[in-house]
Amino acid sequence: MSDTAPANNPLRSLDDWEDFVEARYPAPGQKAKEDYRNYDNPARDTVREFYRLNHRHQTYDFVLQKKEEFLGFNHPKMTVLEAMDYLNKLVDDSDPDIDLSQKEHLLQTAEAIRADGHEDWFVLTGLIHDLGKILCLFGEPQWAVVGDTFPVGCAYSDKIVFHEMFAANPDSQVPAYQTKVGVYKEGCGLNHVDLSWGHDEYLYMVTKPYLPEEAQYMIRYHSCYPIHREGAYEYLMDDHDREMFAWVREFNPYDLYTKSSGRPDVVALRPFYEDLIGEYFPKELNW
Ligand code: FE
Ligand code: FE
Repeated sequence: MSDTAPANNPLRSLDDWEDFVEARYPAPGQKAKEDYRNYDNPARDTVREFYRLNHRHQTYDFVLQKKEEFLGFNHPKMTVLEAMDYLNKLVDDSDPDIDLSQKEHLLQTAEAIRADGHEDWFVLTGLIHDLGKILCLFGEPQWAVVGDTFPVGCAYSDKIVFHEMFAANPDSQVPAYQTKVGVYKEGCGLNHVDLSWGHDEYLYMVTKPYLPEEAQYMIRYHSCYPIHREGAYEYLMDDHDREMFAWVREFNPYDLYTKSSGRPDVVALRPFYEDLIGEYFPKELNW
């Protein structure tokens, strides 16, 4: 089965995973966009199937292999704006009249951060945070691009959504990977811990040399709901992680709760963001 085969890509659109996360973690005082507890919701089954594949296939060895593969940066060089345009080519079954494009989501996140008066690197982080989803266009299956991330090589937390599905992961039969700290050391710091592979880690690898550490944490851990929302895996973190996770938590609402706030004017905003990108990044990045 090829990685792009429909059976490997059950989600109608990558946004279905995000809608599910938003329903799981609704904004304070807000009603979630779609009710995933509703058994008649067809998206509910595709999301479940997506998590089944994710939890089955994200093994410790798979993660190490993907990190090695993508550290080669074997794809054509692109500017940040070219990567945004490229990501927007991702065609799926979402409804263009209702659903935001990937580019609109990025601009909306950045604009909400800007409107709150945050520093320019924070705004820039909002603009780029999902560019790693171009992995889909490189032929990676959905379950290796999106999904809540979690540490591999150690016991699965019961705070991970659908954690019972890990029974089908070959790592669940490897005793060394099923102790509390697994292949790691208590308090070793997340930089020494491998998380399930996806758009977070990939974009972190691409952009790390150019961004302040707070931004690196936001990018690298924004999908790690088991840690930043559920407080799991505390024993793998060090004090520096705990300090930096304040920024990951600061970022999360802009990612999760800005989707309903009107369409950004892509053309009008372009010059502002072109300048901002130029302040931090070289003309082209290695992908
Ligand atoms: Fe994301
Ligand atoms: Fe996002």
